[in-house]
Amino acid sequence: MSSLPDWLTDDRDSAALAAMLDPLSSNTLETLAAEAKALTLRRFGRTMTLYAPLYLSNYCSSGCEYCGFASDRNTPRRRLEEGEIRRELIAMKKLGITDILLLTGERTNAADFDYLHRSVDIAVQEMQRVSVEAFPMSISEYRALADSGCTAITIYQETYNRERYEALHRWGPKKDFIDRLETPARALEGGIKSVGLGVLLGLSDPREDALSLYRHVRHIGRTYWRAGISVSFPRMRPQTGGYEPPFPVDDHSLARMIFAFRIALPDVELVLSTRESAAYRNGMAGLGINRMSIESRTTVGGYHDTEDNEKGQFEVFDDRSVDEFCTAMRAKNIEPVFKNWEPAYNGHAKGNSTILHLENTQQCL
Ligand code: SF4
Repeated sequence: MSSLPDWLTDDRDSAALAAMLDPLSSNTLETLAAEAKALTLRRFGRTMTLYAPLYLSNYCSSGCEYCGFASDRNTPRRRLEEGEIRRELIAMKKLGITDILLLTGERTNAADFDYLHRSVDIAVQEMQRVSVEAFPMSISEYRALADSGCTAITIYQETYNRERYEALHRWGPKKDFIDRLETPARALEGGIKSVGLGVLLGLSDPREDALSLYRHVRHIGRTYWRAGISVSFPRMRPQTGGYEPPFPVDDHSLARMIFAFRIALPDVELVLSTRESAAYRNGMAGLGINRMSIESRTTVGGYHDTEDNEKGQFEVFDDRSVDEFCTAMRAKNIEPVFKNWEPAYNGHAKGNSTILHLENTQQCL
């Protein structure tokens, strides 16, 4: 078994974060919230950038104990073909969504790199920002995705506790802890501009995982100083397989973690998904969080086939429409933003559309 990299166990600069994460420290939740709010306002303004996930396929070769798409689940498997992907993209655009995250399971013959690459090629024709959350890839594969217009990848370590990781990832390529740990660096080497990191809260000791996640972010930030970095805070949700998280994270602990990360990493995007309730997301908006998903469907083809009873990867908690979500944000004096300058920034603009996009900064109406 390969040894852990030094940066993962070096706790020299994580003492301040450790203190903020400690509920018995002098850092009250109210004090942290006030500081996190001020930093968020200074760095991101009164804005909330929005995105939505698009599940391309639920084929998977791995056996993650906590996932509804693990290869031993009794879930019907399918992937979207080109016409279906276009149909989903159109349905998403009708909702106002132009920033998407394409998802697949671990690499299989049915949903391999070529399939993912073709899907990116299709998505960039319709969307202004395309990110990918899929299997770990080689540098040359990431380079091919970047050349096609993929700007960001999301790859959660799930837990940084190696023993827990080994037990939870029962089989498949995801068992390789070190390979996954090194994936964000490979993506950046390949020309991907931004990486999203995170742990799946509930799998392991959340405080230890938060400190390791912080070290990972700091390591990436020091090594690739031009890289964009985001951090997500996904809590376990009910899923096929019925896995019960042994380390549940309550609302206060999650809030403390988000505030602490905002204070420790003022420039990093902090993301909260529809795994959380509407009330909780309303409460956290502007208090550290500056990016959220909306109208998420976790089934394959869920935007077009809205009546589909298929089970998704996990249950969505906040199922508000885009309009309902935007109304709630505006009530808090936060402007929901569908970012649209990415094509110009990335040099992937096509014809006059760049100018149009820049002139018509699209926001939620
Ligand atoms: S978490 Fe990802 S890799 Fe693991 S079983 Fe689910 S889809 Fe597959």
